Amino acid sequence: MSGGRRVAIVTGGSRGIGRGIVVALAGAGYDVVVNYASNADAAKAVCDNVVELGGRGLAVQADISLTEDRQHLVEETLGAFGRIDLLVNNAGVAPNVRADILDAGEESFDRLIGINLKGPYFLTQLVARSMIDQIAAGRIADPKIIVISSISAYTASTNRGDYCVSKAGLAMLVKLFTARLAEHGINVYEVRPGVIETDMTGPVKQKYDDLILNQGLTPIRRWGQPSDVAKAVVAVATDLLPFSTGQVIDVDGGFHLRTL
Ligand code: NAP
Repeated sequence: MSGGRRVAIVTGGSRGIGRGIVVALAGAGYDVVVNYASNADAAKAVCDNVVELGGRGLAVQADISLTEDRQHLVEETLGAFGRIDLLVNNAGVAPNVRADILDAGEESFDRLIGINLKGPYFLTQLVARSMIDQIAAGRIADPKIIVISSISAYTASTNRGDYCVSKAGLAMLVKLFTARLAEHGINVYEVRPGVIETDMTGPVKQKYDDLILNQGLTPIRRWGQPSDVAKAVVAVATDLLPFSTGQVIDVDGGFHLRTL
């Protein structure tokens, strides 16, 4: 039956926001599959954190842009734990080089769409099908799917159009799967972070230090932390938003606010 510790898959759980989400979910009583692309040591260290918090952690290497790898991720999860109660589509990459949209090439576009959009789209499809079967079998109840998008879903940065397009696509992914999965009792959420202090934003730290601390980019004048994003995920994961689905949860220090 659907009792016992719940199980989450967190893509890109080895570092940054994903790592924060894994640790917070373990603290909230989840066993967690820590997906990663290449950084096995980091993923194993995060699994150790899960164990320290009384949970079970499993590191699974899978490039989410690849069909076989996505299947491997789901099979490994079901093989180890027999259920999936929560999918957090977190893994994502920035362009290797920020390039003006009048110059930017197709290679970067294909890479970002593959990892940031196609990967979550088809992983969500795969996991949703499995969740429907698991609900029917009475193994899980009220599973959820979360997408970590970005303020780039609606903010135009002309030197990383590929990233913005991939994140805008995620916003539609959430609407689509929300509409399709509600009848099965699966809620879907978009968590939309602002500027968060991770490896991804390391190369632009000085620029954002100035924008946040001196120029008032965000009403709350500090960098976001992975733990800020993780708290929103835990709220969903612990059933605090049962009558909300398709909801966008801004975790951005108020960046989205228009002021006059
Ligand atoms: P990060 O520190 O660079 O970590 C990226 C994570 O994704 C790593 O765990 C990495 O695994 C994994 N990953 C990369 N490519 C992958 C692939 N093809 N398949 C599976 N896993 C892959 O990034 P972050 O800042 O935590 O960002 C996490 C998510 O939040 C991304 O979707 C990002 O777009 C979004 N976001 C970030 C910010 C921000 O300011 N940082 C703001 C808004 C949204 P390895 O360790 O193996 O490399």
